[in-house]
Amino acid sequence: MSFEDLNLNPAIIKAINDAGYTIPTPIQKQAIPELLAGHDVMASAQTGTGKTAAFMLPALHLLATPPKVQSRGPRVLVLTPTRELAIQVSEAAMKYGKYLPRIKVVSILGGMPYPLQNKLLSQPVDILVATPGRLIDHIQRGRIDFKRLEMLVLDEADRMLDMGFIDDVESIASATPATRQTMLFSATLDGAIDKVAARLLKTPKRIQVASQKERLENIEQRLHYVDDISHKNRILNHVLRDETLKQAIVFTATKRDADTLADSLYAQGYAAAALHGDMNQRERNRTLTKLRSGGLRVLVATDVAARGIDIADITHVINFDLPKFAEDYVHRIGRTGRAGASGIAVSFASNRDGMHLTKIERYTGQRITSHEIPGLEPRVKPRVQHGGFKGANAPSVTQKRKRSPFASNNPRQFNATPSSDANGNRNSGHQSRRSFGQDSRPGSHRNGSTAGSGHHFARPK
Ligand code: AMP
Repeated sequence: MSFEDLNLNPAIIKAINDAGYTIPTPIQKQAIPELLAGHDVMASAQTGTGKTAAFMLPALHLLATPPKVQSRGPRVLVLTPTRELAIQVSEAAMKYGKYLPRIKVVSILGGMPYPLQNKLLSQPVDILVATPGRLIDHIQRGRIDFKRLEMLVLDEADRMLDMGFIDDVESIASATPATRQTMLFSATLDGAIDKVAARLLKTPKRIQVASQKERLENIEQRLHYVDDISHKNRILNHVLRDETLKQAIVFTATKRDADTLADSLYAQGYAAAALHGDMNQRERNRTLTKLRSGGLRVLVATDVAARGIDIADITHVINFDLPKFAEDYVHRIGRTGRAGASGIAVSFASNRDGMHLTKIERYTGQRITSHEIPGLEPRVKPRVQHGGFKGANAPSVTQKRKRSPFASNNPRQFNATPSSDANGNRNSGHQSRRSFGQDSRPGSHRNGSTAGSGHHFARPK
């Protein structure tokens, strides 16, 4: 199937040709015809699958027709969990809509000045891309007219749920016409997302694309056991010296660590900078622009700040600290291996991280191979290696018996403890991400059987 077969407006096809896309990705093949036919759609698709074009192309196609209602408000509203993702969606709208006459795209994001946003909202808008919290503020001040809204897109709905935005999302949806077409994109379609969809979508078509396993196939996942922070720094230095490394994102657990590590790398002569939620929008944009233009080789980032970054030259992702959640591992390493390129994901783990690793492997259904660098071998060899993973759907007998809700493959069988994300975003009782056994958050549940040594298996290197 080609883009021409999708019956999109020729001006959109022309922009797609300019972008160099030849065939639609699986999510585009499945979602675009349903959306053009006017159906509501809920789709499981993550960044990297081409999901933005899957909803943006039909949205632009709609905008090529005259509005049914005369007003100045948006005809298409896209809600995203983070500012970075919102910016990418706005850029995609402009890229794919560049040959359509007068498409006005406006982004309304938290952390930006109100007066400018008020001005933007007082003018005619076609596509409004927004983070929920800030949009709610404007709605409550009566600054947005949704009379002619025809399409509502919930991008990364699972993340909005996790971040506690879902009440805001539902309030926003209720301020829009009931006749709207609604589409929901989420990494997983499960119980919690189903409930949101049941409230906001009308008999949606369900679309499921490539599993994480398939998506991660072009990324080589390596593991280095580390003794201590100085050992970690030495291995990091070794990895960063690799000539095949064009650009890298190094993930740290905290914003402070991101700053410290970025400063230290910069002092060692690397073109390195930090990206995290404590930076203001202008600083973040400046850093991202520098990364995109190749002016930075190493970005040291926290999870939320780096979500949605889509840069082809990122050849390596380095988990300086392992992520707290298995889903974040997938989001992190998905920053490399973009659009069919291959990538390398390096994770540092200590002797005590066996359970983290096992959960990540179960979640991805893939094994992370342990590597040693001559001269930089760990002093302390892991006594028991992680190795609970026996294939995504084939837990060992021990695991089957001991499996708890926290050890499941389903990322939404959870530990219902509220927390805040790396950007300090608020969380509500909708918090539903599964945490690792070592989670020390107050009130978090921990299952003795999964945290114990019951299914740590020695494995050959
Ligand atoms: P997304 O999943 O929307 O973040 O898109 C991931 C990347 O795939 C972006 O760099 C897009 O420009 C690119 N992309 C989207 N659709 C296609 C396509 N049909 N062919 C090639 N690349 C694409």
